[in-house]
Amino acid sequence: MNGMDILSAVYNDTKDQTYRYAVLPWGATEPHNYHLPYLTDCYLSYYVSLDAVEKAYKRADIKGMVLPPVPFGSQNPGQFDLPFCIHARYETQKAILTDIVSALNSQGINKLFIVNGHGGNSFKNMIRDLALDYPDFLIFSTEWFKIIPPGDFFEEVDDHAGELETSVMMHYRPDLVNLSLAGDGKYMPFNIKSLRDGVAWTPRDWSKVSVDTGIGDPRKSTAIKGEKYAEAVTDKLSELFVEVVSDNLYSGL
Ligand SMILES: [Zn+2]
Repeated sequence: MNGMDILSAVYNDTKDQTYRYAVLPWGATEPHNYHLPYLTDCYLSYYVSLDAVEKAYKRADIKGMVLPPVPFGSQNPGQFDLPFCIHARYETQKAILTDIVSALNSQGINKLFIVNGHGGNSFKNMIRDLALDYPDFLIFSTEWFKIIPPGDFFEEVDDHAGELETSVMMHYRPDLVNLSLAGDGKYMPFNIKSLRDGVAWTPRDWSKVSVDTGIGDPRKSTAIKGEKYAEAVTDKLSELFVEVVSDNLYSGL
């Protein structure tokens, strides 16, 4: 990875290099149906980030660093009672992000891309707070699984541990997927029509909506589908990195 991945980089790689940005994959530690690892959201956001940083380097000779994936996500009731599911509070996530921004900022790196892999995470408010505290530091938040509409790639509608995540895991880490264990990911929508229509939001109680913790059927997943989707996502992400690093955000009034 040419010293662009902190899990394998050594100081010898980094000491004489100019890094223009950093990428922070952010996942969760939570059950993913019966067949995907607890750290699925970390693996996926991490591998997608790696590919995108490498593509940006090949495309524009711009170096970025992929930071270690953060394994602590915001969890729903009914999910956080399950063994080893770990809920991170807003304050915990904000403290982690603040320490990372503080470190990078003092090291002269002032652009950070959060590549979120967990639907329960939300960073907008803490990014606004950090924009006050670090006015010269830019944070961009992206959710890798929302960058490309999944409809052209997958047969089943997916929310959690379904065809999308399973296929992309089968592409990157087939050794960690045992599809024969997978439940059907059948889920129960809200009984209240206004909630189904999105008039208001409240966290779903996971134990009331899914038996196997999955939401969406993973059984038509393939590594080929995952590869095609990851390719499209990492194209877009690398384009984002190159554009933001090489140009001004605004053209001027
Ligand atoms: Zn997930």
